Amino acid sequence: MSQQGKINVAVENIFPLIKKFLYSDHEIFLRELISNATDATLKLKHLASIGEASVELGDQQIEVKIDKDGKKLHIIDQGIGMTEDEVQKYINEVAFSGAEEFLEKYKDTASDSGIIGHFGLGFYSAFMVADKVEIMTKSYKDEPAVHWSCDGSPNYTIEAADKKDFGTEIILHISDDEQEFLEESRIRELLVKYNKFMPVPIKFGTKTITLDKPEDAKEDDPAPTEEVDNIINNPNPAWTKQPSELEDKDYKEFYIELYPMQFEEPLFNIHLNVDYPFNLTGILYFPKMTQDLNVQKDRIQLYQNQVFVTDNVEGIVPEFLTMLRGVIDSPDIPLNVSRSYLQADGAVKKISSYITRKVADKLKSLFNEDRKAFEEKWNDIKIVIEYGMLSEEKFFEKSDAFALYPTVDGTYYTWSELMDKIKPTQTDKDDKTVILYASNKDEQHSYLKAAKDKGYEVLLLDSPIVSHLMQKLETSKEKVSFARVDADHVDNLIKKEEDQISKLSDDEKEELKTSITEAIDNSNFTVQVEPMSSDAAPFIITQPEFMRRMKE
Ligand code: ADP
Ligand code: MG
Repeated sequence: MSQQGKINVAVENIFPLIKKFLYSDHEIFLRELISNATDATLKLKHLASIGEASVELGDQQIEVKIDKDGKKLHIIDQGIGMTEDEVQKYINEVAFSGAEEFLEKYKDTASDSGIIGHFGLGFYSAFMVADKVEIMTKSYKDEPAVHWSCDGSPNYTIEAADKKDFGTEIILHISDDEQEFLEESRIRELLVKYNKFMPVPIKFGTKTITLDKPEDAKEDDPAPTEEVDNIINNPNPAWTKQPSELEDKDYKEFYIELYPMQFEEPLFNIHLNVDYPFNLTGILYFPKMTQDLNVQKDRIQLYQNQVFVTDNVEGIVPEFLTMLRGVIDSPDIPLNVSRSYLQADGAVKKISSYITRKVADKLKSLFNEDRKAFEEKWNDIKIVIEYGMLSEEKFFEKSDAFALYPTVDGTYYTWSELMDKIKPTQTDKDDKTVILYASNKDEQHSYLKAAKDKGYEVLLLDSPIVSHLMQKLETSKEKVSFARVDADHVDNLIKKEEDQISKLSDDEKEELKTSITEAIDNSNFTVQVEPMSSDAAPFIITQPEFMRRMKE
């Protein structure tokens, strides 16, 4: 068998178009080819497991090999393979029509890189980097192996091959201006970026490992070494497991796997795991936040079925959570559309609100489980939480359960605790509860002292977005207003204590008087419970004049 054919496409020469439109993202060819190899491997595994394929599977793996002298890159799998008919169908027809459709659809907008970067062009993306592509493939069905070859024009050849084992080998003849893809370091970089967590082991070269010394080895004997396959990926990353299988240390280890250059431990993690009404798994981490919101180099990574897609999750994760780190894996996020479209997509909206809810639930349970530990972390997480309260209404509603309001003295109140505490003493004439705050413990020191002397609570609110948050609270909560402790109108805002006393009935005044008298337990003093003029205390304890004189 040997035949020639012309690939059935309307666009006479598709390759210049592919190259042009995908210019900035040539590297994704490797991700596409390894995805295909992975699919082929998993398909065969599935067929074998249901008894449809009677093959000896062994440890299926994918191999990536550089032939520097031959200027070739090989991607080899032990998957399902293709018969000649299947090559005709899947490569000559289907794959091309897919590419054609894509180019037809996006010809005009393709320069808007927002679309292209996330669009997998599939098998034909190989032509972004290769002048010529060959496929050697043998189906798991007992049929002759096939050799397909195409030099970048729409003409291909297809002939018999003498491949013995089932599976597929893709051979890329790397073009002159893409020689970087023959560099070991460049390929390793791509494998780590896109395939680090793919579900089938990927071999790239070999490595030397040191073995244990045999029992009878002498002190100075060198430890024996062995040359083994260098597997670049972890096929079973933490997020694909059930939360019940994982311990705290597993989450921490995975964090380092994700961000090898990150030495600071995360504060806590949130395991996402849902399969209805959409599919989503992942692990999010709260890192220790810096005050600088712009520093953001280790970002959340988005995967689809363990294939890395992007670390720009804008539009998918609510903005305030883009400060977190970790992984999200969902096959239900449409990636072939622009970001603005994404934000309007129903599934994406659901995903986004699910993530928000999970984060709020986790914060709530952390707070409830160990309040003290939560308070200790507050400083490091408050920016995310306050930002979330400002930007997501649902999160704001839930935040009452865990948002904290620290005082200058280091007490942490929840909103309702704060209200219970200050309402009686810090309510002004208009019946608004006045929340006093300082943005800095030192600068407003004397005002702070004055306020404390009066028994007022003063919050320490120092995060960069706190003024917006106060506005939000003033408009959302009933009858509260914020006043900085050194504002000159603070005193006017606080209802005079005499009014508090005036509110008491005569019986209550008498009761108050009795309990104070008992507390003092000194008959030399007289207790008076009466409204006094402006700045004075709610009650006064007087000492008879003669006693004052006795001391003089
Ligand atoms: P997609 O992966 O989205 O289907 P591709 O263009 O990447 O599109 O691949 C087209 C088809 O070619 C695949 O669906 C598959 O049937 C076949 N194919 C590609 N690579 C392989 C491979 N390594 N082993 C077996 N079949 C393959
Ligand atoms: Mg594919």
